[in-house]
Amino acid sequence: KGAIAFKDVHFAYDPARPILKGISFEVPAGKTVAVVGPSGAGKSTLSRLLYRFYDVQEGAITIDGQDVRGVRQKSLRAVIGMVPQDTVLFNDTIAYNIRYGRTSATQAEIEAAADIAQIGGFIKSLPEGYGAMVGERGLKLSGGEKQRVAIARTVLKSPPILILDEATSALDTRTEQEIQTALDIVSQNRTTLVIAHRLSTVIHADEIIVLKDGGIAERGTHGELIDRD
Ligand code: ADP
Ligand code: ADP
Repeated sequence: KGAIAFKDVHFAYDPARPILKGISFEVPAGKTVAVVGPSGAGKSTLSRLLYRFYDVQEGAITIDGQDVRGVRQKSLRAVIGMVPQDTVLFNDTIAYNIRYGRTSATQAEIEAAADIAQIGGFIKSLPEGYGAMVGERGLKLSGGEKQRVAIARTVLKSPPILILDEATSALDTRTEQEIQTALDIVSQNRTTLVIAHRLSTVIHADEIIVLKDGGIAERGTHGELIDRD
């Protein structure tokens, strides 16, 4: 479940400057496809179109054959999980930040999600900045720890489709590798669209799409793309 198809997708924020000029590719159910390309190529725009922050102007995006323009945002959010580049936390416990929006989640489910993301040790902690008014001291979370909260959130939500939008690009190399390992686990058996800026971070993708000048410049596995260089 959750097969995605981009079919001849055209999009421009400004009609005078088209960003996507006829993009077609598929993410088969359960597979991982990565989109790479220079900054400004329109990689994040693809994920925003899938999520319906904007709608395509020509062509279509489908999930299991259904045009997303016929699906309400609320329903899309139920099937798509997103780990963004920077995670903004609410001023409440880590457990609350993991559970947010899923009021039916049990404590055991929250703890299991936190363990998979390897933040099980401090789910009762508060992020830094919390409690300034009441004199409580919070915990300063590193960028990697914040990404772990976002991953735990996604594990708890357990959506069939996952968007990883440069989810490790703000991290140092060692943390990036640790988070990548957690993301690899979460993306197993989910339809995953990875937005990446470097080929080296998407070695395991089933296919890599290279976006350039509004089109697909190259596509293939990591090994194939490296060989062509
Ligand atoms: P990438 O993710 O590949 O870096 P984006 O999809 O974020 O690229 O952006 C593609 C182009 O669209 C960029 O030139 C960017 O400046 C422009 N752009 C992005 N968002 C908007 C917006 N909301 N309004 C106008 N232009 C935008
Ligand atoms: P729901 O409770 O409806 O499932 P979530 O709170 O899980 O919704 O949000 C769905 C996903 O959408 C989250 O993973 C979040 O990262 C992402 N998201 C929400 N708002 C934005 C936004 N403005 N930009 C990018 N991603 C967003």
